[in-house]
Amino acid sequence: MMQEEKNIVIVGGGITGLTAAYQLQKRIKEMDLPYTIKLIEASSRLGGKIQTIHKDGFTIERGPDSFLSRKKPAVQLVEELGLTDQLIQNATGQSYILVKNKLHKIPSGSFMGIPTELRSYLFSGLVSTSGKLRASLDYVIPKGKEKTDQSLGFFFRRRFGDELVDHLIEPLLSGIYSGDIDEMSLLATFPNFYHLEQKYGSLVRGLKQTMPKTNKKAKKKSGMFYSFKNGLETVVKTLEQELNRQSIVLNTTVDHIEKKEHVYHVLLDSGDVYKADAVLMATPHNTLSKIFSQYKMFEAIKDVPSTSVANVALAFDASAIKKEIYGTGFVVSRNSNFRITACTWTHRKWPTSTPLGKVLLRCYVGRPNDEEIVDLSDEEIIQVVLKDLNKTMKIRKKPEFTVITRWKHAMPQYTVGHLERLEKIRAAMKEKLPGVWIAGSSYEGVGIPDCIEQGRNAANHIVEYVMKKL
Ligand code: FAD
Repeated sequence: MMQEEKNIVIVGGGITGLTAAYQLQKRIKEMDLPYTIKLIEASSRLGGKIQTIHKDGFTIERGPDSFLSRKKPAVQLVEELGLTDQLIQNATGQSYILVKNKLHKIPSGSFMGIPTELRSYLFSGLVSTSGKLRASLDYVIPKGKEKTDQSLGFFFRRRFGDELVDHLIEPLLSGIYSGDIDEMSLLATFPNFYHLEQKYGSLVRGLKQTMPKTNKKAKKKSGMFYSFKNGLETVVKTLEQELNRQSIVLNTTVDHIEKKEHVYHVLLDSGDVYKADAVLMATPHNTLSKIFSQYKMFEAIKDVPSTSVANVALAFDASAIKKEIYGTGFVVSRNSNFRITACTWTHRKWPTSTPLGKVLLRCYVGRPNDEEIVDLSDEEIIQVVLKDLNKTMKIRKKPEFTVITRWKHAMPQYTVGHLERLEKIRAAMKEKLPGVWIAGSSYEGVGIPDCIEQGRNAANHIVEYVMKKL
């Protein structure tokens, strides 16, 4: 059955596609454009990786738990949606790195593990004396000659040596990307570090010059992250309410997209076809080569890896924890004999997530070279997690309940050459697939604010494009 409409189709109802749909709806209304939007989502719900559940008074995030408050696109969207009064900020507290099975405080004055205050590093047991001496060579090592992309690992190891990288920088950065820093692209993930090195010669000097000065006497009470009283899904539900009901098509997978003379035919698994003047692909990168199988341009990213992880939430009565560490959580370095990669003491970091007298721990398993753990049964995963947790805490009772969420091939890896590949794909799309855009976590940032910005930008490009067609 062919539906005769003037459509803009958005494929994928995660935060990228949802933001794009919201922005498009607004612009279409403002400009009185003769277009309808179809947001097509394969699953039975909107939000993609953002999923909150409520159980026995706990608020549990199955995917992301917050977004960075300093990144403006998310804050702007929250304001526009009238959700500012529902925002909550994380409580600050000591966070740790587990190195060779021992918990160490993350030294104060570090940025992503890079020292900006030497004193706190000198007294930290995280790095040996020779490791500290090697790291201090950052002041004298000349800036790199590489003008093209390089791995984060190569860049940081050259500046600071292996020990600081393996004990501090790698666990912190891998916590964000779940990736291998010796494969990840410097320019696609932290281009500012490259620019600081080029400008100041030393990264430590560059960070000291450019980081905002903190008033050491004013104790920080609130953190760098935002969520909502009712969980992150608040933003998803609100966006959903703002959209016209007819725009949302759930339980429908886009199978194929074909370019015809004036429009695209979007073929659905139901057998229906939508005609579209413009299309936004807000799905993971590995869906593209199948959906546009007649085009070669997406082959370049087809096999770019996405790491599998599982998020394991464990709810306890407080009496179950006999030895607790004061803090908000820890990340694990690879040279530790642990399979969990991180643990957040969620009841501390987000106090409203947990009823009084209870404890909520949220752990991750799965990293490059240990992705198979995600395929273990729930019981096996819980056993691994509890065994690891008991190496740092004393947990004497079983959890009241657990929630395991497997994220298979869900963390896209921006490997070396990412930006160059993206540029080539976009150039080829402009020529061969005019009116089709790609946006979302596979491309220009995995964080929620980055996805929101990409969704909004894509919507604005689409408006410009369809206006020229009128
Ligand atoms: P997705 O959320 O993946 O949405 C894509 C949608 O496309 C899905 O709903 C999917 O069903 C749909 N789809 C796929 N194929 C088709 C098809 N053929 N037809 C129709 N629909 C299709 N970011 C932060 O800022 N803070 C965090 O704390 C944080 N933690 C994270 C923890 C985990 C476990 C994960 C996995 C990610 C985390 N992130 C975090 C990253 C962030 O959550 C994601 O990058 C972001 O939510 C991705 O949004 P998206 O819309 O681009 O993609």
